[in-house]
Amino acid sequence: MTDDCLFCKIVAGEIPATIRFRDDSVIAFEDLNPQAPTHLLVVPRTHVRDIVELGQDPQLAGAFVAGVRATAAELGLTAFRTVFNTGAEVGQSVFHVHAHLLSGRPMGWPPG
Ligand code: 5GP
Ligand code: ZN
Repeated sequence: MTDDCLFCKIVAGEIPATIRFRDDSVIAFEDLNPQAPTHLLVVPRTHVRDIVELGQDPQLAGAFVAGVRATAAELGLTAFRTVFNTGAEVGQSVFHVHAHLLSGRPMGWPPG
């Protein structure tokens, strides 16, 4: 738990969220401002700043990817997009690593 981290507070249950999946390593909850019919945020239970820091701990990184897979399976998603914003310049606004898990509509490429 890191003070003043929004997602640590959601993990701790101090701020409400609609949680769709949880295991020992991750929780997945609905984004407050969804950009697709399904838009979840998958976060590790422990505080990690971004995917760069996550990649320094292969065990945690592996558990996290398994959690993304399990979330998609739980929701029955077979086609989905995962996005990691890393750095404020590209849109990261919460500095607790999270995979955006988006599904349920056609998506263009390249992304904006
Ligand atoms: P980022 O911009 O860091 O990639 O993504 C942060 C995401 O967190 C945004 O999509 C935003 O809508 C979402 N968000 C911000 N505050 C809250 C909140 O209090 N609850 C939930 N469920 N999502 C939030
Ligand atoms: Zn945190």
